[in-house]
Amino acid sequence: VTRAYVGLGSNLGDRERFIRTAIEHMNRIPESSVIRVSSLYDSEPAGDSTQPRYLNAVAVLETELSPERVLWNLLLIEKRLGRERVKRWGPRQIDLDLLFFGDRVIEEPDLTVPHPEVEHRAFVLVPMVELDPTFVHPRLGVTVGHLLRERKLLSAVRWKGRFWY
Ligand code: AMP
Repeated sequence: VTRAYVGLGSNLGDRERFIRTAIEHMNRIPESSVIRVSSLYDSEPAGDSTQPRYLNAVAVLETELSPERVLWNLLLIEKRLGRERVKRWGPRQIDLDLLFFGDRVIEEPDLTVPHPEVEHRAFVLVPMVELDPTFVHPRLGVTVGHLLRERKLLSAVRWKGRFWY
């Protein structure tokens, strides 16, 4: 089995409910289960700062599936939850990103793992550090704790409480 780290984000409607529902769907992915979820964090939208603020979390999915199959299931959940792909960086009910897949490094046309934005995003690094500060980013060869300290991103997100999961 592999531990996949999945980033969740929502900035439309009942954001917490979209994240909770997405996690319930993730737990129903075949040969997989959600074993941990970080706290919720409120963050500035990346890219277009005129859109509403995001609620973010990171979930740990233990899976026997391939990374391609996991991504396929995540995209299916996005569709089911009614994500309308209006704008690339625009608002969305739910956004699911495959951040890490164990220590695998994958460069495929439709799948880049680790997710290429991980090291720039406080809303990914802060919940990752909460889950496991010693987790090593397999492309950069340093821990997520190191990345967060080095980039001084800690103040860029607001803690919004522990998750019920
Ligand atoms: P986005 O608009 O950011 O949700 O982009 C989703 C698209 O990015 C999907 O169609 C994926 O094929 C592609 N993609 C590549 N690598 C990843 C990844 N690690 N996690 C999620 N989507 C990815």
